[in-house]
Amino acid sequence: MNSSHKYVYLFGSNRTEGAADMKNLLGGKGANLAEMCRLGITVPSGFTISTEACTAFTELGRDAVLALIHEQVRQGVAFVEQEMGKQFGNADDPLLLSVRSGARASMPGMMDTILNLGLNDDAVMGLARKANNERFAWDSYRRFIQMYGDVVMGLKPLSKEEHDPFEIIIEMLKDKRGVKLDTDLDAEDLKELVQRFKSLIRARIGRDFPTDPWEQLWGAVWAVFESWNNERAKVYRELNDIPASWGTAVNVQAMVFGNLGDSSGTGVAFTRDAGTGEDLFNGEFLVNAQGEDVVAGIRTPQQVSLVGSRRWAELALVHEDERRVHYPSLEELMPQIYQQLLHFETLLENHFKDMQDLEFTIQEGKLWMLQTRNGKRTGAAMVRIAMEMLKQGMVDEKTALQRVAPDRLNELLHPIFDPKALRAAPLIARGLPASPGAATGQIVFFADEAETWAKDGKAVILVRQETSPEDLRGMSVAKGILTARGGMTSHAAVVARGMGKCCVSGAGAVHVDLKARTMTVGDAVYHEGDWLSLNGSSGEVFEGKIATKDAELSGDFGTLMALTDKYKRLEIRANADTPADAKVAHNFGATGIGLCRTEHMFFEGERILAVREMILADNEAGRRKALAKLLPMQRGDFEGLFREMHELPVTIRLLDPPLHEFLPHDDANQRIMAAEMHVPLGKIKMRVEELHEFNPMMGHRGCRLGISYPEITEMQTRAVLEAALNVRALGVHVKAEIMVPLVGTVREFNAQAEVIRRTAATVFAERGETLDYALGTMIETPRAALVADSIGSCAEFFSFGTNDLTQMTLGFSRDDAGKFLPEYLKRGLYEHDPFRSIDQKGVGVLVQMAVEKGRSVRPGIETGVCGEHGGDPASVAFFHRIGLDYVSCSPYRVPIARLAAAQAALSD
Ligand code: ADP
Ligand code: MG
Ligand code: MG
Repeated sequence: MNSSHKYVYLFGSNRTEGAADMKNLLGGKGANLAEMCRLGITVPSGFTISTEACTAFTELGRDAVLALIHEQVRQGVAFVEQEMGKQFGNADDPLLLSVRSGARASMPGMMDTILNLGLNDDAVMGLARKANNERFAWDSYRRFIQMYGDVVMGLKPLSKEEHDPFEIIIEMLKDKRGVKLDTDLDAEDLKELVQRFKSLIRARIGRDFPTDPWEQLWGAVWAVFESWNNERAKVYRELNDIPASWGTAVNVQAMVFGNLGDSSGTGVAFTRDAGTGEDLFNGEFLVNAQGEDVVAGIRTPQQVSLVGSRRWAELALVHEDERRVHYPSLEELMPQIYQQLLHFETLLENHFKDMQDLEFTIQEGKLWMLQTRNGKRTGAAMVRIAMEMLKQGMVDEKTALQRVAPDRLNELLHPIFDPKALRAAPLIARGLPASPGAATGQIVFFADEAETWAKDGKAVILVRQETSPEDLRGMSVAKGILTARGGMTSHAAVVARGMGKCCVSGAGAVHVDLKARTMTVGDAVYHEGDWLSLNGSSGEVFEGKIATKDAELSGDFGTLMALTDKYKRLEIRANADTPADAKVAHNFGATGIGLCRTEHMFFEGERILAVREMILADNEAGRRKALAKLLPMQRGDFEGLFREMHELPVTIRLLDPPLHEFLPHDDANQRIMAAEMHVPLGKIKMRVEELHEFNPMMGHRGCRLGISYPEITEMQTRAVLEAALNVRALGVHVKAEIMVPLVGTVREFNAQAEVIRRTAATVFAERGETLDYALGTMIETPRAALVADSIGSCAEFFSFGTNDLTQMTLGFSRDDAGKFLPEYLKRGLYEHDPFRSIDQKGVGVLVQMAVEKGRSVRPGIETGVCGEHGGDPASVAFFHRIGLDYVSCSPYRVPIARLAAAQAALSD
């Protein structure tokens, strides 16, 4: 690429070079600014420096890129000058600019924006004279220094306990003047702020604040490019799977001013409710304010629509009279502007056919649009908006299905507070219902500590005055987030909704003392580690722990699920070990049980005693005696499963884990066991010693157990078939599938199949009736996959145990991978955690090959997956592509897998 390559794209009322479909090149913000211009919406003119320039910056450095884009940027500024009728750098009537970053995918708060660029000690006078408003000019100037000082010059708090140094100065001045709000500061105060800010920068940074507008502009452009690789951008990319290679664009745009007095203001709005999905237009704004003021939560924002405003007042416990006087909606305050905004929101939602998140500024009675993008929303809102837009005819079924991210369904499926427990809980404060859900956890005040606590397995609630992008990682591990300041569009609220995390924002009664590590509400003091509960759907904050219960699903959820069945090809089964699990799975639409791990039934109550008796037995007779005690219990479990699943298939795996897992390994528990079972302690210790293995996952387990102790296989087969016969007698068309784990050769399978068939013949003879059942195997060793044709000639179905298969194919122990895998992922040695999302190029190829081999000898052989991967959307898509019959996942992931399967079918 050379300097004749186009790096700069103009947008304005007379000429627009970009468009919405150019997001890769212009970033989301730049592309949509151009699109709004094309739609005839009033947008301040500007230009976008493409993501290609950012990539070049990262690769070639600043000087090389300057040579490439210098002339084009100069022409871009000239274009804006012409459109606005002002000149950049003209101190008498200066053109001021904003410099905004914008990547392909929206990364809210990730990159920093600079407003009012172009001001200096001379230009501020010109601006004041021209606007005839000294306060406004100095307010703009102090904001510019504040933002530029932070973003470009790097003046940040020295430690995490320190607040923003500029804000400290503002607070000090407000105290001195005895005023509360920044709007109460007058022009003289603001002048003083400017002087103090500049001295602070000189003292801390050792350089003067740049006065030359062009130097300011280039500094800002480079800062945006550099911010693509700052820590918080990296964290966000990591959490959202955004490649570093995309780069960000830079938008340079003429300023419009929301801080010109009471007929000016700034705000954000959503075309539908981002929390619930309701088709209600609303948002928040502040009069006489600029830029991020609404989001930063410096004053209580007002609501955009009247309906929204009334609802807000109800939640915030503001009386209607007070609301009307002090917090009127934009609809009431500036009806004409509101109508125009309503027109734009409808136009934009219809144009993009999705819920839009809008930014606007009002300058002396004129409305300017500054941004539109597809709004982030909660999982519940995703479902509702998609289903309502389908009903409203805005999108078709396929688009509606694609609009819901499968993983986000999690939020709808997860528990809410138990209403009874909730009634008894002490309500201590109220904030805004920023992101729905229920959360209980221990208080922490710092994001990095939230991470450490969460690593130790603690449930934490992150409590902050307000959050900032530095807190991202801590927010992502917290159960819930509580902020003392900020509205529904504050950083905490937006990010929490994006993460589907419970959040209560702007709980004004909460006072956070970072140094003392306490949170005070009235007289009550709460310390780090104290328990707190949040209801993100009502904004309520409770003291202590509250019990939770299962969520209730709305009609839209049912509609969506019905739609998945219309398009998906894969069947979705569930991994369920108990009738209770099976019931949940069935309610979520599972069409079978793909894996019942029988050993999970062995731990309950007296069963473990019988299991231990079997393990301690010295000979077959002793083992059979213990197994006879287990038989009725196992049979009862299986009857429960068959009854729950009706005529749907239930796949039961024979005993799989090594026997030592059923014995206690510490002295204290061994003593208890000895006393309970009336056996000498020495005997237990000896057996534990004998069963010790260096590598249990590759030791005496799976079918190897059944081969050593066929009586175990006999008992389990008998339990399955007797249960099936009993339930069939009730009129249920039972479909039982018996599955042999961990085979590597067909001879292992046949050795077990012989025991199973022989037992079945005995049971059928005893009962005088027979039953069809399927006899198949797991494919979970690489060897089994390699010889799947020979195994498939004997086994009637394959179920891929992708957990073990991954472990053995990669040579990664699942239990030890935690030591190196995070580093591997960070360095890109593996793209994804292979235990979470199937390693398509390695393990996936083995699965595909085994399916082909199996089908070559048994054309209709049933194939499925029962590892964790069965509930991972990317893996589900892969299993769809290679033609499996079903995936099986945990009950709560069934809806996720159904949707993922439908989406996979749509992209065929
Ligand atoms: P983010 O990506 O964090 O949303 P933006 O680039 O949208 O950052 O800018 C942050 C704030 O600055 C927004 O509230 C926006 O409305 C305001 N802003 C940006 N450019 C201008 C401009 N040219 N005139 C007035 N306000 C602006
Ligand atoms: Mg924005
Ligand atoms: Mg296994």
